[in-house]
Amino acid sequence: MPNLRTLATAVAITLLASASSGALAANDLLSTQDIAAATKLRDAAMAGNVDENGVAYRLTESLTTEIGERLAGTPPADRAVEWAKAKFKALGYDKVYTEPVSFPLWTRGHEEASVVSPYPQRLVVTALGHSVGTNGPLQGDVVEFADLAALQAAKPGSLDGKIAYISHRMQRFKDGHGYGEAVGARAFGPSAAAKAGAKALLIRSIGTDHDRLAHTGMLDYAAGVPKIPAAALSNPDADLLSHMIARGQPVRVSLDLDCGEHGMATSYNVIGEITGSDKRAQVVTIGGHLDSWDPGTGAIDDAVGVGITMAAGALIHDLHLQPRRTIRVIAYMDEESGGYGGKAYANAHASQVKQHQIGAESDMGAGRIYELHAGVKQSAWPVIEQIGQVLAPLGIATVKTGGGAGEDPDAMVAKGMAWAELRQDATYYFDWHHTANDTLDKIEPAALGQQVAAYAVLAYLSAQAPGSFGSGEMPLPKPGW
Ligand SMILES: [Zn+2]
Repeated sequence: MPNLRTLATAVAITLLASASSGALAANDLLSTQDIAAATKLRDAAMAGNVDENGVAYRLTESLTTEIGERLAGTPPADRAVEWAKAKFKALGYDKVYTEPVSFPLWTRGHEEASVVSPYPQRLVVTALGHSVGTNGPLQGDVVEFADLAALQAAKPGSLDGKIAYISHRMQRFKDGHGYGEAVGARAFGPSAAAKAGAKALLIRSIGTDHDRLAHTGMLDYAAGVPKIPAAALSNPDADLLSHMIARGQPVRVSLDLDCGEHGMATSYNVIGEITGSDKRAQVVTIGGHLDSWDPGTGAIDDAVGVGITMAAGALIHDLHLQPRRTIRVIAYMDEESGGYGGKAYANAHASQVKQHQIGAESDMGAGRIYELHAGVKQSAWPVIEQIGQVLAPLGIATVKTGGGAGEDPDAMVAKGMAWAELRQDATYYFDWHHTANDTLDKIEPAALGQQVAAYAVLAYLSAQAPGSFGSGEMPLPKPGW
């Protein structure tokens, strides 16, 4: 998932103020040979990923079947690191290596909630990622808030002994921006509730479904504020709780969460490279994240992103199209609890921002791509438009405003790396995101050809571009939704 802060604030795009360098000379543009090679890549990706035998689908099936849930720092995530190394090698990548990532380890134990009075009933909940536990069942009367802003307006002490509850419902949109409007409740609700004196926080799941399954996801405790337990109710359970509260009597809830942090852990980003030719010290990065939340098997988030980008790099290798710049496919570790893999990569490569031509990440499930966005210097935009022309037959429009690289590359973008986004149709993504329903059956094998094609074309043509896209040269257009 893209960066919380980017989404939550929905920053308006700031277009570069500096003047364009005018029309590009022909030798600054991609050659007709490059365009022809990319067209061949595109068509091969489409032809090779039409069913369950496609490389991207097979990788996704393998990771979800042989590993499954893989919360960073747990044994399955460690097995996923070995899995990724083995797959990169089997796919013929020229160089395969790991880079360390350290992060706080968090685990989930049992989790239960119920209404004690006036209408005793069980509630379906799941702890928010990195929540503290309850140390045995706790009880409190519930106070409902329509949204995060309403909770933030609660006076200190006004919720002493209570359980705060945010009932705001996420809205469904093709571009997924309803997530940005709703996710603040999950991220910042716990500390807002604690400031007003609450002993725990419940939120309506950040999800667009009507399933009786709760959506987990990271919270963000504020420094200096007591950490209180926080959990999400499934959408139907949130409705149930609101209906009870609407009857006017105090509604008392019991919450029992056995979860918490256990010090620091170290795992690895796994990287596979297709070595470049004359500009091999420069890199194009694409990738997805290897870790997942624990209720499902992490199929749409983000086994499929790893599968799509690994398959895209492998196809360039298979067609013997040695790129000029090195193509680096990164399977990031621990995106979910705060983008630790992306930050570790950015720290390790902080002195090489200029050598990064562009970075992108596939982390919005398996829906079809419908737009290309990019944050590059103005004078490189005609090359992005050339890439867009190769993508156009895939139903992908090139859009000059908005977009963002994704949580993992964002750490390098913050240091000045140029970025691209291949925006996917996220209409259904948030029905399953971070739930037990994030499983392989949600992925349509025939949809993956288009995505492998798009990442292969983007990576290859970015690697071939005669000039720089502007990394490290000047302020680039900032990501914005
Ligand atoms: Zn993700």
